[in-house]
Amino acid sequence: MSPLQSSDHVIVVGAGLAGWRFVEALRREGYDGALTLIGEEPYAPYDRPPLSKHVLAGKWDVERTLLATPELVEEHQVTLHLGVAVTDLDVAATTVRLRDDSSLSGTHVVIATGAKARLLPYSASDQIHTVRSRDDVLRLNRDLASLQATSPIAIVGGGFIGAEAATSLRARGFSPIVLEAALRPLVNVLGPNVSAWLADLAGAAGIELRNEQQIADVVATDQGLVVLFADGSTLEAGAVIVGAGAVTNDEWLKTSGLTIDNGVVVDENLLATERVGAIGDVARFSWKSTSGTELVRIEHWQVANDHAAHLAHYWMTGESPSALMVPYFWSDQYGKKIQMLGHARPDDTVTRVSGSIDEGKWVALFSRGGTVTGVVALSKPRGLMLSKSLLEEPTSLDEAIARAPWAS
Ligand SMILES: Cc1cc2nc3c(=O)[nH]c(=O)nc-3n(C[C@H](O)[C@H](O)[C@H](O)COP(=O)(O)OP(=O)(O)OC[C@H]3O[C@@H](n4cnc5c(N)ncnc54)[C@H](O)[C@@H]3O)c2cc1C
Repeated sequence: MSPLQSSDHVIVVGAGLAGWRFVEALRREGYDGALTLIGEEPYAPYDRPPLSKHVLAGKWDVERTLLATPELVEEHQVTLHLGVAVTDLDVAATTVRLRDDSSLSGTHVVIATGAKARLLPYSASDQIHTVRSRDDVLRLNRDLASLQATSPIAIVGGGFIGAEAATSLRARGFSPIVLEAALRPLVNVLGPNVSAWLADLAGAAGIELRNEQQIADVVATDQGLVVLFADGSTLEAGAVIVGAGAVTNDEWLKTSGLTIDNGVVVDENLLATERVGAIGDVARFSWKSTSGTELVRIEHWQVANDHAAHLAHYWMTGESPSALMVPYFWSDQYGKKIQMLGHARPDDTVTRVSGSIDEGKWVALFSRGGTVTGVVALSKPRGLMLSKSLLEEPTSLDEAIARAPWAS
């Protein structure tokens, strides 16, 4: 691997968090060659977590989510092409084609095209909202402005986005009703125990949660939107929001020859080829953890940041980070903060090690084969962060309990 030179030209496709953080990281590493950032949205890179937490709650103007201010763009000497999608990548020539039929050749390409909200095939799909982009939230806020506060808002999906949207809407005086298909929200992500410990949070926050809901369709009538359930019952809603996960933005790579399999498959240095890398939500990367190496795709804010720093450092120095990457995410929902370290599986063993359900604050460990694979906490941020060392090197469950870093 030869380090990047001043004569190189790095093209970053996707002007979201990962793409912008890569620009920042590459300049921080000392790269002084050409740098181009291309994004489909007409906006300079902005941050998504505040959309469901603060913008939807009416606490922040959307402009406050901006990451790449004009001053920072100038400072980082990056050429922005906004409002234009990339439609094709020639891997060998490191050349991208844009929707306006122009093309751009560089020496290196970073794929940072993230993901989009998963849509569900309902009859009234053009009137249904998702919460992924700045435009999504502005459109939703416009619709909400014409609604009576008392009109129910149906939220399809009780996962992270659904729960955060419900919390924000409740704070504005609306009556969200969360419709979850599974036995409980997050059961397929955090497993049966942790999801059970979280099961009463919605109710305690004054938000109606209905589990095991089979939705047949959402239709538009003269009275507004109606959710039709498989058992024949119905729910009239002033608005319907779907929070059903995300799908990767990788269709534009169909003819590239890269391996696309639930994201762009890359190695432990986030490389698909020597000169093409993928980072953030779109990357399915070879992740080395205390339990071995596996191919994963992780949609977390912190992972996008870590990927950006890793790839920039690798292209500048040929060095990989010496420490293991410990994935981290948080979610603010129903007046509580859920945080997690690691990338545990829902069927990993769970042991609560601090706090209690009644108190509404606790820390728990995930383990597999007796080794700690994750730490999850409810409204115990310090306890969670102090436990990071348990995932930086292999730690048995017994040893973790004996050390009890969360209690320090
Ligand atoms: C509402 C919301 C709340 C969230 N809250 C949290 C949270 O609390 N904690 C947490 O850990 N994570 C959270 N996340 C996840 C976090 O925001 C993502 O992990 C992060 O945004 C990933 O960054 P990214 O750059 O990989 O992808 P994205 O942010 O999706 O950016 C990708 C960009 O690429 C552009 N693009 C796509 N295709 C093309 C193309 N062909 N050509 C050019 N441009 C293209 C897209 O328009 C987009 O702007 C949240 C996400 C959302 C949507």
